Parts: sequence; C-alpha cells; structure tokens
Amino acid sequence: MNDIVGIDLGTTNSLIGIMDAGFPILLADANGERLTPSVVHFSGAGAPIVGRPAARMRVVSPADTVYSVKRFIGVRGDELREDDEAVSYRLLRTPGQSVRIAAGAKEHSPEEISAVILQKLKADAETALGRPVSRAVITVPAYFNDGQRNATKRAGELAGFVVERIVNEPTAAALAYGLDKLKSRAKIAVYDLGGGTFDISILELNNGVFEVLATNGNTHLGGDDIDQAIVSRLREKSGLTGDDATAVSRLREAAIEAKHRLSAEPVARIELPFVRATESFTYELSRAECDELSRPIIERTRAHCLRALADAKLGPADLDEVILVGGATRMPLVQATVAEIFGRPPNLSQNPDEAVAIGATIQAGILSGAVRDVLLLDVTPLSLGIETFGGLMNVIIPRNSTIPIKAGEMFTTAVNNQRAMRIQVLQGEREMARDNWALGEFDIAFEPAPKGVARVGVQFEIDANGILHVLARDTKTGAEKIVEINSAVDVSDEAVEAMIGDSLEHAFEDMNERVWTEAKLKAEEMLGAVENAFALVGDAVPADEKAQVARLVAELRSALESGEVQRLKNANSALDKATEPIAALLVEKAMADAGLR
Ligand code: AMP
Repeated sequence: MNDIVGIDLGTTNSLIGIMDAGFPILLADANGERLTPSVVHFSGAGAPIVGRPAARMRVVSPADTVYSVKRFIGVRGDELREDDEAVSYRLLRTPGQSVRIAAGAKEHSPEEISAVILQKLKADAETALGRPVSRAVITVPAYFNDGQRNATKRAGELAGFVVERIVNEPTAAALAYGLDKLKSRAKIAVYDLGGGTFDISILELNNGVFEVLATNGNTHLGGDDIDQAIVSRLREKSGLTGDDATAVSRLREAAIEAKHRLSAEPVARIELPFVRATESFTYELSRAECDELSRPIIERTRAHCLRALADAKLGPADLDEVILVGGATRMPLVQATVAEIFGRPPNLSQNPDEAVAIGATIQAGILSGAVRDVLLLDVTPLSLGIETFGGLMNVIIPRNSTIPIKAGEMFTTAVNNQRAMRIQVLQGEREMARDNWALGEFDIAFEPAPKGVARVGVQFEIDANGILHVLARDTKTGAEKIVEINSAVDVSDEAVEAMIGDSLEHAFEDMNERVWTEAKLKAEEMLGAVENAFALVGDAVPADEKAQVARLVAELRSALESGEVQRLKNANSALDKATEPIAALLVEKAMADAGLR
C-alpha cells in the first residue's frame, strides 16, 4: 500500500492523519478520540500504558508516568536547563550523553518513549483503516537542531515506520491553512501557543516553497501556566490549602474545563461536590476574571513575537497573514493579543489544535502522490554534479539540499590548448560518473591556453519549480552557456531508493575506484611535469639526482601498471619529494627568464 500518514508528535498531545479521496482526515482511536495525550505510564512488568489512561495515572503514579518527553528528545545531559528538571519522573543526565528517563524500574531513551506513543498512533490508524501503514511524515518545531530531528526520526523507525520526511510544524500549519495556494509569494507569522510551549515562526512562501526566516519562543510557556493561575485562584476561593493530591487534581480538571468553556461563553460555573471532606465548592468564573489571570501569561508572548519579526527584518505590516496553532489560541484574549501585536486579525479558518497534523497529512499526501496539484519541493532527492577528470562525479549540489538553491565551482582544462569543455550534468550518489544518471550535456568553448590556465565556472541553480539551470562561463572572455533541465527534482521514490541502495552496496568499491583514479591522475600529471622539467632545466640537475628521479619514474610507471593503489600513492609521494629541488630550479629559471634575477 502506498499510504503515508502524517503525524503531529506534540509535547502535550499527538495526532495522526491520512489523505482520503483527496482530503486530509485525522484518525480517531477506539474511543473516538483524535487527540492522544503524549503520555506514557510504565507499570511493573506489563506493556506501557499510553494516551488518555496514562494521563490519568499522572496523579496517582507521578514517578512512573512520563509526559512532555519531547522536551528531552535528542538532548544531551549538559544541554538541559535547570528548570527542565521540574518533571515528576527521574531524568538521568550525563554530560555528553543523551538524556535518559527512569520510570517503571527501567531506563528509557526519550526516543523509545516517543516510539511508544507513535506505536499507539500507528495501531489506532491501522485499526481505523483496516490495513497496515508503514510510512510516515512527522513534524518537529522549526527550532529543532539536527540531533533532535534525527532522534525524532529514530523514534519513528523504532515504532516501525519508514520516516519519509521530518517537516517543520509551522510549515505544516501553513499548508493546512492552504497558504501555499494563497499567492506565489507571501510572508506569514505562525503563532503557536500549546499546553506547555510557545513558538513564533516567520515563514516566507516563494512559489510553493516555505522557508523559515526566524523563530523564537519559550519552551516553558503555555496553557498549563494559565491552568495553574486559575487553580491558585480556585484554591483561594475554596479555602483548599495543603496538598491533598486528589483534591488539587479535581480542582485542576475543573479549571481546565472552565477555561475551555470560557473560550465560547461569558461565564463558567464550577461545581465540585465534597472537594474537602464534607464540603462542596461552587464558583462562577467569568471570562473577565479568567482574562485577568491569563493576561500576564499571554503578554509574555509579545516580546518573542517582536524579536522574531526583528530577526526576520520585517515589521508587522510586511506580513500577509498571521495564523494560529495550538489549543490555547482558542482563547479570545489570545486572539485579541495577537491582533494587537501584529496589527491585523489572525486567520481563524482552521482548527488550531489540528492544523499541524492536517498539514503533516497534506505533506504525506504530496509525497505519496495522493495530492497532485500542490508543488512543495523542498529538498533535492539526489546529488547533482558534473563529470570531471578521470570520469569522476564532482558533486555541486548535494542530496537533501533545500530548494531553491544555487551553488558553483571552478574547473580547469586537462590538456594544452583545449578549445572547449564538455559539461556532462549528472545525478546520483555514485563516485564514478558512469554509474550516475546523465541528465544532459553541452560544450562550452573558450580560448586555447596551456592546460590548467583556462577557468570555467559552472553554476547549478534549482529554482522553486524544481527546474535546474546549469550555467557554464569562461571567466576570461565571459562567454557563457545556460541549459535548463526539468527532470532533476521530479524523481520517483523507487528510483531514489534504488540509487541510494546501489551507492551503499557499492560504497567500498566506488571509494576504492575514486582513490585509484585520483592517484592515477596525480601520477600522470607528475610524469608530464617531470618530462617538462628535464627538458627545461635537465642540464642543471646533478647526475645522481637525475638517476634517482629516473628510478622513481620507472617505479611510478610500473605502479600504474600494477593497479595497486597503495603502491601508486607511495610512488607518487616518493617522486614528489625527490623532485622538490628540480621544482626549485624551475622557479629560479622562470624568475631569471622574467628578468627578476
Ligand atoms: P496543544 O498543545 O496544542 O494540544 O494545546 C493544548 C492547550 O490548549 C492546553 O493548555 C489546553 O487547555 C488548551 N486549550 C484547548 N482547547 C482550548 C479552548 N477551547 N480554550 C482555551 N484553551 C484551550
């Protein structure tokens, strides 16, 4: 089956979706719930408990219930901030090593725990669809570094997925809001206030490709802080002091429920029978009171937004759209604050808790071919380069480079008085040109000159439409030629897999052949140079030195015949060393000829 699922692996909640008849659909678990709390409870020997039942265990069994594991994925012990310690389970931090988590009498890596969450999403999706799913797109915050992205990918693999792509959360959200179709160029702010984290990202859309211009945020700011503020107020009002865990937990549940209701209604009535022994507690929380408690928390997002705008060198007026992500942005006060910061009302057209998952699903659909009308080419599937001396592949744009991209290199001639250079454009991961795919070739003419003098600049540019423009220019005359190649990015997944498989399978022999070819090129160059030098300054070289060089030349020739790479490399360096005095003579002669001595 060619399905690819889209997954929002969130700090608080996770979601999974799939394209169905051209629409992104989020899949529910057996209880009809689409949001799975990202919580894992480890009890004695049995299998870990995941999601809603695990979230309920947080109160009764805090040390064995892992939440917010996303904060620790791909993070080393020494990278952890002090306040990250404030979790109810035990973190094991060793400098230089990945953080580990002790729960349920065992140690786990954050990847393993994330994999347990992903496995549950996978199983729920398979039950809902009635067929297995094995390929996934997973989202990560835009600020995640390579280590965190790789660890997330590993978590996906541990859960049994082939991870097709790791996508930035704000990019996924922008896709869900359909902003890729808005216009060809746009600047977008993605304001993401979740349960525990706040992220602001400024994106630039350029012909279907999103680029992150700036990100900012706070990994400890979100709806949970608002819950805490409401709980404190309710404790005051109810006279509930001390730390009766069950009572506080009931108060928290009531606070969250009231907060959610207040996003749609002006007042929420809280009723908690027997919260303290025989006493019940009733309270009417108004939207105004909730706003008063939340305002200082929401205000803290303002500085991050301004910082991100400044980093992107933009003012609010430069933005085309502001979109909301994260459950907490359902609060009217958050929406009003965002409108004030950015000087425009935010786009409310999507469900903010689901936008990232919907976007991941759309991206999955694009990759699987289920969505055809969107162009979202963001990386090169395979390396692009040209053939150089000795039939070697010279990579100019490496595989997985973000598109659009421009890169170039200078090349020279191998033969005296060469009049043209053939540019053979190649795609693939193999070391030798002949094993890669030829995408096209053309000649660039230049003025005849001794070998190594001509300079030809070759530049590859892939535009946002995935078209490769190859430009070759004679730097002396400025003569240039440009060709366009359409097939550089649009390569089928099977072909990419086959190429990468081949390159791995042949990695050893390919590398040997490259090393041999490079040594052979060097040997040929040196043999030519020695011949040249003897013709010019041979008379000035003492006889014993000459005999020694001649011996080394003979050895080099026979090493070339032998096909033994180490022998050839040794012969190269021996000849190189022995000809140093001759090289010095050549320099002296050149200076004398030029009248400098
Ligand atoms: P997320 O991390 O995106 O799942 O967001 C979770 C946060 O959004 C939690 O703090 C929730 O309490 C909050 N949230 C969800 N729905 C609402 C709502 N209707 N009004 C206010 N906050 C909400």
